[in-house]
Amino acid sequence: MHRLTGIGVSPGIAAGHAVLLMESPLVIRFPIAPERVGEELARLDEARERSRRQLLEIKARVARSAGAELAYLFEAQLLMIEDPMLINRVRHLVEEQRVNAEWAVQHAFEELAGVFDGIEDAYLSERKGDVADVAGRLRMNLARARGRGVELFRDVGPGSVLVADDLPPSLAAQVDWSKIQGFAGDTGSRTHHTAILARSLRVPAVLGLGTASRDVPPGALVVIDGTTGELIVDPPPELVARAHARSARPAGRSRRAAAPEAAVTRDGVPIAIQANIELPGDVQAAREAGAAGIGLFRSEYLLATASPETIGEDQQYEAYRSLVEGMAPGAVTVRTFDVGEAQLQPWLRTSGRRASDRPAQVRPGGPLGLRAIRLSLERREMFKTQLRALLRAARHGRLRIIFPFVSGLEELHEAKAVVAEAAREIEERGGGRVALPPIGVMIEIPSAALTADLLAREADFFSIGTNDLIQYALAVDRTDAGVSKLYEPLHPAVLRMLRTLVRAAGRRRVPVSLCGEMGADPVILPLLVGLGLTDFSMSPSAIPAARDVIRATSASDARRLAGRVLRLGTTAEIEQCLKECGRQADGGRDTTKGTQGGARGDE
Ligand code: PEP
Ligand code: MG
Repeated sequence: MHRLTGIGVSPGIAAGHAVLLMESPLVIRFPIAPERVGEELARLDEARERSRRQLLEIKARVARSAGAELAYLFEAQLLMIEDPMLINRVRHLVEEQRVNAEWAVQHAFEELAGVFDGIEDAYLSERKGDVADVAGRLRMNLARARGRGVELFRDVGPGSVLVADDLPPSLAAQVDWSKIQGFAGDTGSRTHHTAILARSLRVPAVLGLGTASRDVPPGALVVIDGTTGELIVDPPPELVARAHARSARPAGRSRRAAAPEAAVTRDGVPIAIQANIELPGDVQAAREAGAAGIGLFRSEYLLATASPETIGEDQQYEAYRSLVEGMAPGAVTVRTFDVGEAQLQPWLRTSGRRASDRPAQVRPGGPLGLRAIRLSLERREMFKTQLRALLRAARHGRLRIIFPFVSGLEELHEAKAVVAEAAREIEERGGGRVALPPIGVMIEIPSAALTADLLAREADFFSIGTNDLIQYALAVDRTDAGVSKLYEPLHPAVLRMLRTLVRAAGRRRVPVSLCGEMGADPVILPLLVGLGLTDFSMSPSAIPAARDVIRATSASDARRLAGRVLRLGTTAEIEQCLKECGRQADGGRDTTKGTQGGARGDE
């Protein structure tokens, strides 16, 4: 037995056999049934033949355009793909270990790459690059035959624990989570999108495990504990039995009371609690949790199975319409695509390029590049397609549109002008008069928080995205486990920013909600109420506990608490103050076991 420790991001305990996913390059290892070995070998042969033909074509093309000498470079790759020794090693792995061909290719080529590592000769050691290139091509052709990510997961058996180096949200959205008992990742933290998804699906998850995807042998029995942040390899039978007894995840969604009590503070202040969701089907979970509406629909998850070029207006319209109808009479706030440029190119992921080849800003959570509203404004047609779909869907219920990553007034002006253009297009093609729905701004960049008074003149509502706001205010990458300790929701700068923008919105009577994970922290929630927030949006699974916290909170006490906290100079003092206040409110029990940030030593 050995134990790895990371950050528990989705509570619960689960046991299962490890299925490994290497996003760089994308390879999953899973066992295949004995009767499917022949089929797997046939796929391999097909992929090999396709790769061979491609290389011949490339060689001929290069010979025509750049001369025979350069074309000769591809000769080495052709020799490798034609070499029976290599392909026989791959076949042998498929047959002996009964594993999928993608994994066998990767494994065989890694063995071969190891041989090149020991070679001094510069020319020969350069050939290692050719080995990787050939392996990438073979995998790409295998993946093409199998289809995209969804298909890659087709054969993963039930009762598995997914262990990944990185699971980007677009891929996470394609996993059949009914088969996955738990999730462990090398990177990421609590506010990583995959953590958010795991919580809303109630799949126990641990992130920030460092090298789990390399340390856990494929197929090994593991237990993961999303509360303590542990991954245990080869656990003793008692632990597995305990995990099985405790995991018993409800089939489908849990059946919570359909009409929960309203969230009202002890002194009668009503607090709206809405849900953050990623997929249209999550509406059911939001309703079961008693959400007042959808405070954040992360529409970019629609791109998980299709590119913006192929997900047309009608398809999007149907998705948004099903959301507003499914959530009626509650409102649904749809955030326009919050993706980086490279996330729009799923083929990058299967082209054999390694994740490390991609520029840093395309990794989820750390993008300072062309992303979100900035990207939408560059890709007008994609943006207008989404907006037309939203404007049409808004006729069927209470839909609101929100723009992510707005940095100031210019972007809001420009984005609103595109909305007007999209409305005009619908009218001009005979689609009837368009009434514009409320248009809001995500406040998640410090520049937006500091100009909230200006934005409030032209936005119909705000939603505070503290996940990003905190990371940009404190210069801490929220997906980087190395600095997760510095991710401090209770930093005085963060609290001051919140106060400034709540006041700015209040002066203009612009409704403001908070949709970052910070709102779901039971320790922090009363403080946020004290800062004047009365509307929150969070994962459906966090709603019942948040409602209990609200019902136990007095808004006037919370205001006094906020006043005290805002005078304190350090995060440690603020935590101490919340701790004392929690003890008093709870008759002495320590209620500070919150879930956000890394500094509370007792987590
Ligand atoms: C946020 O930034 O707080 C937020 C809700 O958006 P996301 O986590 O999707 O970036
Ligand atoms: Mg954000």
